[in-house]
Amino acid sequence: VLDTDRFILTFEEVAFLLPPREIMSHKYTFGHLAVIGGSKGKTGAPSMVAEASLRTGTGLSTVIVPSSLNEIFEIKLTEAMSIPVEDENKGCFTASSVQTVLDVVESGKFSAVAIGPGLGNDPETFEFAREFIRQCSKPMVIDADGLNALAENPEILKSKENVIVTPHIGEFSRLTKLSKEEILSDLFGCAQDFAVEYGVTVVLKSGRTVIATPDGKLYLNVIGNPGMATAGTGDVLAGVIGGLLAMGLEAEDAAKLGVFLHSLSGDLAAQKLTQESLIATDLIKYLPEAIKFLK
Ligand code: AMP
Ligand code: MG
Repeated sequence: VLDTDRFILTFEEVAFLLPPREIMSHKYTFGHLAVIGGSKGKTGAPSMVAEASLRTGTGLSTVIVPSSLNEIFEIKLTEAMSIPVEDENKGCFTASSVQTVLDVVESGKFSAVAIGPGLGNDPETFEFAREFIRQCSKPMVIDADGLNALAENPEILKSKENVIVTPHIGEFSRLTKLSKEEILSDLFGCAQDFAVEYGVTVVLKSGRTVIATPDGKLYLNVIGNPGMATAGTGDVLAGVIGGLLAMGLEAEDAAKLGVFLHSLSGDLAAQKLTQESLIATDLIKYLPEAIKFLK
């Protein structure tokens, strides 16, 4: 039997990972996250990614979105900026926008990318996501439909560095072609095999999230609660992790601190609001309390 205790992610190993706020620091000191996501009916997901990154301490956050939805983001988001990308009124990213988005993201001002939340499952969007991921050079967290797009060709990941994937069990099943039962019977082994084979940091999400690194290290998160089993909580995690990457943390540290902060925020929110009433944006509201806890 595996001695899981030795993998438990502890307060001590994440508490000092947040970058200090020096007197003369400015917003560019704390990075700029590019959030690529959103489609008709799914504008909340990338919005939560952007807001969660800012609440984690990222200097700037910009959502890159299908142009026909841009006004929605202009109204929903206050601190985050948006960049519209021509979508021919389709309400989702299309394969023809790959170069435009790459040019924007590679222009130099962005320090990390979060791609996936709310992208939708249009085959054109999947093609866009795969091609963007293949060519993007920035540290990246890939979540949700970004992972579903990769399921057709996960080999793309092998050529990349500084990538974190954040699948739940269903997304991981599509990515690995393993059944959910196989995954659930060996969370550590499955996460580790994928991380090592593809050279990415895996955050395999569930009631007991496991982190696996490309060099085979494993961590088990034991905080958080079932109140977090509600729509959008994964998007908040992508924002926290993406924000930490944008601030300059290494993939492994961003995954560890991100998972811990997200769950701690969930526990603090549930204490106040009950597990039943907890909704995803509460996790963003309680991030400040979670951060205080680390100090
Ligand atoms: P997603 O399915 O992408 O929305 O992600 C759900 C998020 O909530 C992940 O970070 C999960 O680890 C977390 N979560 C879901 N269910 C539970 C649970 N029963 N206990 C603790 N965390 C959970
Ligand atoms: Mg999700």
